[in-house]
Amino acid sequence: MLPDTLPEAVAAKIATARGFIFDMDGTIALGNAASGGHEALPGAIDLLAALRRRSIPFRVFTNGTAKAPATYAKGLRAAGFDIADDEMMTPSTSAAIWLERQGLTRVRVLGDPGVAEPLLARGLEVIGPSQKADVDAVYTCWFRGFTFPDLEAACASVWDGARLTTASHVPFFATANGRGIGSSFAINQMIASLTGKRAKVLGKPSRAAFDVTLAAMGLPRSAAGDIMVVGDDPALEMAMARTAGATGIGMTTGLMRPETISGLPDRFQPHAVIGRLQAITRALADHATV
Ligand SMILES: [Mg+2]
Repeated sequence: MLPDTLPEAVAAKIATARGFIFDMDGTIALGNAASGGHEALPGAIDLLAALRRRSIPFRVFTNGTAKAPATYAKGLRAAGFDIADDEMMTPSTSAAIWLERQGLTRVRVLGDPGVAEPLLARGLEVIGPSQKADVDAVYTCWFRGFTFPDLEAACASVWDGARLTTASHVPFFATANGRGIGSSFAINQMIASLTGKRAKVLGKPSRAAFDVTLAAMGLPRSAAGDIMVVGDDPALEMAMARTAGATGIGMTTGLMRPETISGLPDRFQPHAVIGRLQAITRALADHATV
């Protein structure tokens, strides 16, 4: 049976939460292979609506960089969610803000078209994968069109002092057909093997991604302890919650399996595990009048 009750301490945390960060796939929605779109998981639309009514800020943060954030947001609206474009985040959203803050304004982007949208929107100069140019940073993403000239150009930039950054450094991800290879992981490993430089992760589970999301919600860094991170991947959302000092709520509607949780390292441990988002909505409602 799926768990659907929250420990009292976590329910109390929800009641006073200052913001929520949700994963998309396996947490609030599931990909529909037939339509190519998304379907809301039970209770997800209601939960976001309940947060909206209470003026509690939230962001949906997917680690995918195959599409622009606005495209994902549009897909979620089509599935029935009340979500604005700027409430949807990808690693490119956090990368754009982080790179700008670091003064790294010329960026070689190794990714598919669309991935650079958040960078362009912030006024960063985006250089193509193998375009000849001096850059301040190299940013690697989901990129199935990766070629040897792209590798040469990226390595040359890193040898010239460009900062190596990435959307994600996870070797595998779950697909409807089983295990998929993380494209940016493979690219990062190639560049690292040649340059000796490790890629700085700007998507989940990095502190950079968390901090940028917090700021996007208009919250100070000191609010980290009052943020709920809801997701189905221990190595992404739960790791991000643990690193940041937030509360991680694990969902068994995706990757997380109740029987494997006790074997996870401490840094991946959820603070609570539920099978239904209604448990969170209930915790919000239960405490609304306190
Ligand atoms: Mg997920």
